[in-house]
This record gives sequence, structure tokens and C-alpha cells, in this order.
Amino acid sequence: MKCAVLSVGTEILFGQILNTNSVYLSQQLNLMGIDVLYHYTVGDNDSRLSEILQMAFQDCDLVIATGGLGPTEDDMTKETVCRVMDDILREHAPSRTALEEHARERGRALTPNNYKQAMMPSRAVVFDNDAGTAPGFALENGGKYIICMPGPPREMKRMFQRRVRPFLEHFSDSVIYYRTVRTFGIGESSLETRLLGLIDSQSDPTIATYAGEGECSVRVASKRKTISEARDAVDQMIAQIRARIGEYIYSEDNENLADVVGQRLIRQGITISSAESCTGGMFASELVSVPGISDVFDRSLVTYTWNAKTDELGVLPETLETYSAFSEQVAREMAEGLYRKTGSGICISVTGIAGPGGGDSDRPPGSAYIGIVHAGVTEVHFHRGRDVNRDWNRHYAVLAMLDLVNKSIKQ
Ligand code: ATP
Repeated sequence: MKCAVLSVGTEILFGQILNTNSVYLSQQLNLMGIDVLYHYTVGDNDSRLSEILQMAFQDCDLVIATGGLGPTEDDMTKETVCRVMDDILREHAPSRTALEEHARERGRALTPNNYKQAMMPSRAVVFDNDAGTAPGFALENGGKYIICMPGPPREMKRMFQRRVRPFLEHFSDSVIYYRTVRTFGIGESSLETRLLGLIDSQSDPTIATYAGEGECSVRVASKRKTISEARDAVDQMIAQIRARIGEYIYSEDNENLADVVGQRLIRQGITISSAESCTGGMFASELVSVPGISDVFDRSLVTYTWNAKTDELGVLPETLETYSAFSEQVAREMAEGLYRKTGSGICISVTGIAGPGGGDSDRPPGSAYIGIVHAGVTEVHFHRGRDVNRDWNRHYAVLAMLDLVNKSIKQ
């Protein structure tokens, strides 16, 4: 079934509100296997709404509209829809009763224009609104369907889940299932190259790669008759993807890296502390966003100056003078000093160049040395930055730290 999502509201055209309804509806319809071909947005204007509807019905069997069902003069969606779908408005008794009930419960009197909300196209299937007052409806004409729902997102979402989805399920003969695989440490082009054979040869499941903030994801989607067929097809494809890029994958279920690491630490009961220079506490901040992390997260020391590094972590002044703060040796001494102080199962340190500026051709801004002590063994890793901007550089260094912790505790 081919579908268009139509948003009615001059506020959207003026940029006064963000059109979140169309995003939500597209996601939901896609999950149901209904192809969304177009998004339209039109102001509260009778002739333009009518033109858009006629245009949408040239290609689509279904238009799902939101907005313009309210009681005021400019809410004219129902009137226009009735004309295009060759129907008339008639009072819908259950909607009138619901309106009166709603007003009585709140001790309010209904104004004459409120009754407009109880007027429904005579052939419509009416959807009651248990989060507001404007009912929605579905209306058919010559095999073409329109579904209208109220504009406020809370009302629309409830109506969609309670009433519209079950109504639409009769029309859909397939379902879509998808999972998102997330990776760190491989760029989008190398990722695509490694998956090329799979991407080229498959029409279902489909594979799409996305570049995110310092990481890449792969979305694997299948459209089949039943959810279990679709899930099997996706699982088999993910197994093939794992065989090609498994070392870069940290989640096969669209979790973020901090969550994956935090949950693993908690599950395995491994305590962790960090000593941060260029990231200034960002690593700790990411980690404490994970619920339950207090079971394992001991502390983070932000040791920015030389003085802080010697005072808090026992880094030797000679090491700083000989190698500078941005060095493998200092990262090592930071991590080992932290371990002496805390005894945490994992002690991780970072010292780097946040940028802009600084560094050299081999170590561009954003580069960092990351030290890690795990099970009594110290390792120092060099993370090569890409100098995007200061915030991004620091964020990327934090991902590299999380990735390192993840690899060292992966089971
Ligand atoms: P009401 O019964 O409240 O008048 P309505 O069906 O007439 O609802 P509108 O008047 O078009 O809907 O919109 C009401 C409010 O809903 C808007 O002010 C806006 O806050 C929100 N809204 C409408 N359309 C959208 C949309 N596409 N995305 C996000 N929010 C929306």
C-alpha cells in the first residue's frame, strides 16, 4: 500500500513548530510495511489542501493527515476532505456525547464552535480521542483512503496506536523488522567496501550504512509476511556482517557505546576509575549516564595541569619535562598512579590535544594517548585525531576510551 503523510498547519510552514508528527508516522508506517512515498505540508487553506489531496491520490492509495480538526474557524480539514472524498458532514452522536462528557468533567460550558468537533463525514469510521477532544476518522472513496488525526502529538500518537494501527493492519500483507548494528573504529567508506558483496546482492534484507558522530551504523531491514520470517532473515544477514566486520561491532541492537560498556562492567562486577586531561570529565559524564553505574564507577580525576598530574596521580616531574604532558609515558604514569590510588579493576587515563591547533603532522589535534591498567597489566594506545573541532575531538577521544574498555572486558 502506497501512502503519503500530510501535515496541515500554517505554523509548520512558518517554522514555528517542528513537524514531529510526520517523522513519527513515517517510522510507524514503515514498521508496518506501508511504503511512505511523500511528505506534504500545507497551511490551513481550503483550496491548497484540496489540490494537495488530489495530487497525493494520483500516486497513493492512502493519505494520513494530521492537524486542522479543532473547533476554530481556521480548522477546515474535515470540510475540505469531505468535498474531495465526495461526502457530507453530519453530526456524529457518540462524538457529541463524548464532547459533552469531557466538558462536564472539567466544569466547562461548551461553546457553539465546540460542536463542530462532533461533525463527521457521514461514511467515516470515527476514531475517538481519549487524550483530547477532536475525534479522528478514516474515509474511503473509490478505493482511496484518507485518515485524519488531530495535530497535537500526544493525541495523535495515542490515536494512532489505539485506533489507526489496528485499522491499517487489515490492509497490510507484510511487516518490516530491522536492527541497527553499531561500530566504532571503521570509517563509512571502508565499512561499505567490506560489505560490498552483501549490499549489492541483496534486495531483502536491505543494508544501509550511516555515518554518525565518530562512529558508523548499519541498518538491516527485512519485509516479509510474518515477523518471524523477517527476524530470521535479519539475523542471518547480521551473522554475515559479523563475519566481515565483527571486530568493530559493539552493539547489534542500536545501543550506544557508553551503555554497552557500562552494562558490561556492571554485569561482570568490574570497578572502574578514570584520570582525564583533555576530556575534562567527559568520559565520567558518559559513564554516569548509565543507570546502575554506581555499583562499579569509583571516581574520575580531572588532572589538567602538570601540577594536578603530579599531585593527584604521582606522575614524575622528570617524565613531564622529558616527554611533555602529551606523551605515552605520561598516559602510562597517570593510569598507574590512578591504580595505586584506587585499586579499581580498570584504571583508564587520557592525555591529548583537544585543538584547534597544536599537535604535529603525525599527531593532529584531537589525538590522545590512552592508558589502561586492567588485571594488573598496563597498556598505552595512541588514538589518532581528525581535528574537526574542540568538542568533537574530545567526544571522539571519549569514544576511543570507551572502545578500549569495551575490548578489554568483552566476553
Ligand atoms: P486542536 O484540537 O488542538 O485544535 P488540531 O487537530 O486542530 O488540534 P492543529 O490546530 O493543527 O491541530 O495543531 C494543534 C497543535 O498541535 C499545534 O499548535 C502544534 O503544537 C501541534 N502540531 C500540529 N501539527 C503538528 C505536527 N505536524 N508536528 C508536531 N506538532 C504538531
